[in-house]
Amino acid sequence: MTTGYVFDDIFKKHDYPGHPECADRLTAIMGYLEQHALLPQLSQIQARPATIPELVRCHTANYVKMVEQVSERGGGMLDPDTYANEYSYQAALKAAGGLIDLTSAVVDGTLDNGFAFVRPPGHHAVLQGSMGFCLFGTVAIAAQVARHDKGLERVAIVDFDVHHGNGTQNILETDPHIMFASSHQYPFYPGTGNYNEIGQGKAHGTKINLPLEVNTDDEGIKRLYSDIVFPMLRRFQPQLILVSAGYDAHWRDPLANIGLSLTGYQWLSQQLFELAGELCEGKIVFALEGGYNLPVLAAGVGNSVRILLGDDKHYDDPFGLSPRPKPDVDQLVRVLKRTHDLD
Ligand SMILES: [Zn+2]
Repeated sequence: MTTGYVFDDIFKKHDYPGHPECADRLTAIMGYLEQHALLPQLSQIQARPATIPELVRCHTANYVKMVEQVSERGGGMLDPDTYANEYSYQAALKAAGGLIDLTSAVVDGTLDNGFAFVRPPGHHAVLQGSMGFCLFGTVAIAAQVARHDKGLERVAIVDFDVHHGNGTQNILETDPHIMFASSHQYPFYPGTGNYNEIGQGKAHGTKINLPLEVNTDDEGIKRLYSDIVFPMLRRFQPQLILVSAGYDAHWRDPLANIGLSLTGYQWLSQQLFELAGELCEGKIVFALEGGYNLPVLAAGVGNSVRILLGDDKHYDDPFGLSPRPKPDVDQLVRVLKRTHDLD
């Protein structure tokens, strides 16, 4: 396998003291990949800045300009949760541009698959603005490039971050060519993501939301993905799978309360990798979103990288399963099957 990656020092210059979405997250990930001899097995794609035409498919030109201006004057808060400093505009441009080029290389067949180790994250950024630590909708932007510049008819995005990918959904709400499936704690930040949000107009039925009760664990997540997300992927027949890879659904994450383990995350990565093999010649690209317990984040990313390299035997889970009592997912599975005609 040839697995590509994106990293650039500027991703660590977007930083704010004391904020959970900090540069130390990438330091932990890159350190882990070096320590476990994974990085030398990967092939680096340089991160170039996304262009304005690439960005304005997903964001208003006014918003893009506003981020540039805030960065140019040294930074500030873009919204109550989301900071920008003097490097943030360039970092966000390169996060999107890097993922675009990595994705394009996978679509072209130059690389088999890839993982973009990028910051700031993207899946909360909406058409007209930042949200939840996210500046530009990196994964939505890459999906649109695959669709419009690479000519793909069907792209699927799977978002396993613990927060609803509301920005990705907002940007692609009416686009029937892009399937979007998100599993997330609910009700929770950012407030959206109920089961009945399934896309609008021609895109009706192409958006799938799995609202998870607090403490839903590996077993519940396996059931929901096996019964809902995987059949929907098979029905949609994507030519490319993009993954909004957040590791904050782990039971030890400080920002949320879902009960996934690193073993559960490894299973999920493996299943998506195998589905990509079955449906789209293995074309799958992960992009980093959230994850705020640094050892969990680093090992979680490392395990996903092992999967992309074709190694499903070795993985790292020093933390074990969630010790908290788990909710029953039967009712949710029934509701989702009915919502998406899966019976
Ligand atoms: Zn998150």
